[in-house]
Amino acid sequence: MILEKMHPDCLQAPLRLDFDDDALIANWTTLDRLSGAARAGAAIKANGYGTGAAHVAPLLLRAGCRDFFVAHWGELADVLPALEPGMVSVLHGPLFESDVAYARHSGVKPVINSLEQARRWIASGGGRCDLMVDTGMNRLGVAMEQLGNEVLQGLDVDLLISHLVAAEEDTPLNERQRQRWREACQIVAHQRASLANSAGIALGEAYHGQVTRPGIALYGGVPRAEMAPVIRPVVRPQAALLQVRDIAAGETVGYNATFTASTAMRVGTVALGYADGYLRCWSGKGVLRSPGGCALPVLGRVSMDLTIVDLSAAPDLLEGDWLSVDYALEEAARTTGLSQYELLTLLGRRFRR
Ligand SMILES: *Cc1c(COP(=O)(O)O)cnc(C)c1O
Repeated sequence: MILEKMHPDCLQAPLRLDFDDDALIANWTTLDRLSGAARAGAAIKANGYGTGAAHVAPLLLRAGCRDFFVAHWGELADVLPALEPGMVSVLHGPLFESDVAYARHSGVKPVINSLEQARRWIASGGGRCDLMVDTGMNRLGVAMEQLGNEVLQGLDVDLLISHLVAAEEDTPLNERQRQRWREACQIVAHQRASLANSAGIALGEAYHGQVTRPGIALYGGVPRAEMAPVIRPVVRPQAALLQVRDIAAGETVGYNATFTASTAMRVGTVALGYADGYLRCWSGKGVLRSPGGCALPVLGRVSMDLTIVDLSAAPDLLEGDWLSVDYALEEAARTTGLSQYELLTLLGRRFRR
């Protein structure tokens, strides 16, 4: 290769996110089936929960998905090359004039979250939109008491949406929100109703409406135990071994010397750190795997770009070998105290996807 023509983007990265396309498609298909008569959409906000929205959008489209949800207008750039604008909803709604103008021009649906947003949308000429109704989150959405406001009658509402606050739990809140959502559907004219996120799909038919909105479970998260047998893992982080060294009994490893070797041992330094989303809560707790599947426990503190592992179980590993990171979301959440959502969305920019 001629050196002047090499761009840093072409170089091999020491960190990659293995992504199982078939598992993503299988998870969407499963969630669509569990949605019964309703059709499953897909939350692809936050860069497809950290997994790469530009990659997942066309796969989900191929699987049969026709309703996609992003949070920010800026997230459209990654997904619109693959999707028809009318399939995509922007959950934050139209805040700035540029959002309104863009929605009008592109055909992407704004999710109207307040009377103010409704007025702004109608004043611009309006058009097809979604409407978020707040049934208990007190976060985004028009309040139940505001549903009679005549400004809402001027909207051309496709999806009438509400969002469950605790669908992963069995709590009376679910039924209370479901009733309010049904009530809202009686008051505001709309084409299709939508309530359930991933966990909400498991609450049964009464929660499904016409469109469900799974996110976390598409990417391998398990928000309710009954989903564990049918949801497949989708991502697995892989990192390259940068260096191997032998240390003597009594030597310490990493910042602040939090690990001390009790015997002579071989350790390896891996190109993975908290700047990549492998946070310090994995220090002394995480496990990486050799290509043969041997467990290589994390020793001492995770640092910004590096993690040190115990190579006792695989002493023949060499610089440049690839290790995979144990990142099964349910177990990882138990180990670290982070949520499955955080574990996914943390996976940073340095991973080659
Ligand atoms: C993120 C989000 C979803 C997806 O929720 P999961 O729990 O990840 O399935 C659905 N609806 C709205 C409004 C959201 O913000």
